[in-house]
Amino acid sequence: MKSLKNSFFQTSVLVVQILIILSIGWMAWKLLHRTPVVPPQVYPYLTNISPELVLDSQKEGEKLSETGWADLLAIKSTLPTEQASPIIQQLKQGIPFNQITWKSTALSPNSIQEIKKRRVFLIQYPLFEPERYAFPVQGKPWYEDSWGADREGGKRQHEGTDLFALEGTPLLNVCSGKVEKLGWNRLGGERVGIRGDDGNYYYYAHLKTIDYTLKIGQSITKGAQIGTMGHTGDALTTPDHLHFGIQLPDGTWINPYPFLFVWQHYPS
Ligand SMILES: [Zn+2]
Repeated sequence: MKSLKNSFFQTSVLVVQILIILSIGWMAWKLLHRTPVVPPQVYPYLTNISPELVLDSQKEGEKLSETGWADLLAIKSTLPTEQASPIIQQLKQGIPFNQITWKSTALSPNSIQEIKKRRVFLIQYPLFEPERYAFPVQGKPWYEDSWGADREGGKRQHEGTDLFALEGTPLLNVCSGKVEKLGWNRLGGERVGIRGDDGNYYYYAHLKTIDYTLKIGQSITKGAQIGTMGHTGDALTTPDHLHFGIQLPDGTWINPYPFLFVWQHYPS
């Protein structure tokens, strides 16, 4: 009897030890394989820039250098025109961004630091990078910035952009990546979720039809057709539209409007 108790005790200790080793291993694996999280200070900056300013900088920057658009945008979004002009003049004379002589500009160290930080954000989190993303609706849908608008009588807020066009209009994938979700959910109706190569989750809802060739886990290229516009899910009684959402790797939804506007109007 005593030896039975002993061996039971020994087995329990062994089980506990194995569990501890497994959970340490699991935590280490999670730590090594976690999705890179975008610093929270980045997106408020990106979503608050005027899309027109982005487009202007892209057009002008093309003639300067590969990062010319980001150089210009960081400067123009930080400084008033009269302060920005002499620095932009240096760029136009062919001086690379990291050789700008800030001393002659009489800017505060804070402003200079802010410009440099913003430029790194623009280059590192490339949602505005020319030609990297596709616009999700074929033709010219109507859409406006409805981020945060009341839904269900104020029970929740709108976490995306609605793009309106005729039922059956082809819908396109904005960022190359992998198909993560397909099919029906209560609010979204027929929906497609793509995990972009940039780590973000791209959500397309209320589709009439989902492209029959799509399979969960498959790779998908930018611009590939994912389905057609409809009004399924909680859009049953509304005009046909695509609800488009962008969710960061950390689960935060961000306002897609400025990005959509830029993707639609990239200088060509
Ligand atoms: Zn919506």
